Amino acid sequence: MGFPPSAAPLDDVKRVLCVFAHPDDVDFGAAGTVATWVRDGLDVAYLLVTRGDAGGFDDTPRHEMPVLREAEQRAAAAAVGVTQVEFLDGYADGMLSPTISLRRDIARAIRRLRPHRVLTNSPLRRWERIAGPSHPDHLAVGEATTCAIYPDARNPFAFPELLLEERLEPWVVSEIWYHGGPSPDHAVDITQAWSRKLAALVAHTSQTAHEDVASRLRPFLEQNAQKAGFPEGSVAEAFTVLPTA
Ligand SMILES: [Zn+2]
Repeated sequence: MGFPPSAAPLDDVKRVLCVFAHPDDVDFGAAGTVATWVRDGLDVAYLLVTRGDAGGFDDTPRHEMPVLREAEQRAAAAAVGVTQVEFLDGYADGMLSPTISLRRDIARAIRRLRPHRVLTNSPLRRWERIAGPSHPDHLAVGEATTCAIYPDARNPFAFPELLLEERLEPWVVSEIWYHGGPSPDHAVDITQAWSRKLAALVAHTSQTAHEDVASRLRPFLEQNAQKAGFPEGSVAEAFTVLPTA
């Protein structure tokens, strides 16, 4: 089963929360789009479920990896104008599932930050590309975030302690953007933001220093732009956009 066709994005969005499994997910998938949102005056925050402690290609001691990757993600966020970057504690890279505790932690962040739009990993697998976008952690975060949006964040009787003890009022997120799922059909032209996306990717030194990330990525982004009918030489990121009502 795939996604239904994307809806037209809402035009009165003020706050966006990006929820992803690992540092660098948001930058590979959406840093150009985030840069355009920031340019347009939207208030964008990141919530990372792990610090990417199972990633990397070099001989950095494993215990240093989470600290390093948190710093890299903060630098990458700064490259596209995002300063609010939060990390959940207690979740290990490579071991995520859409547990009740993960749903509660994401619902807590949604009630606190009150985003109109949430951008997250796709909970649906792309069978034609098992590696990369369909990492099980991504699928788990996509599923947990979807459950946190409906019903957890909006239902006062879901995780009642959030309201009773933490005074976090229910909140309805209006729109979900998924990245990395099957047949994304909503393209965002990021031609003007390409250099900022690249700066964000380069900030993830432990993940990208071993390759020429621009040459690897650009053909995919050109393909997205071509499919969307954008002018020759454009680059685009592609998503599925769904209303939550
Ligand atoms: Zn990832």
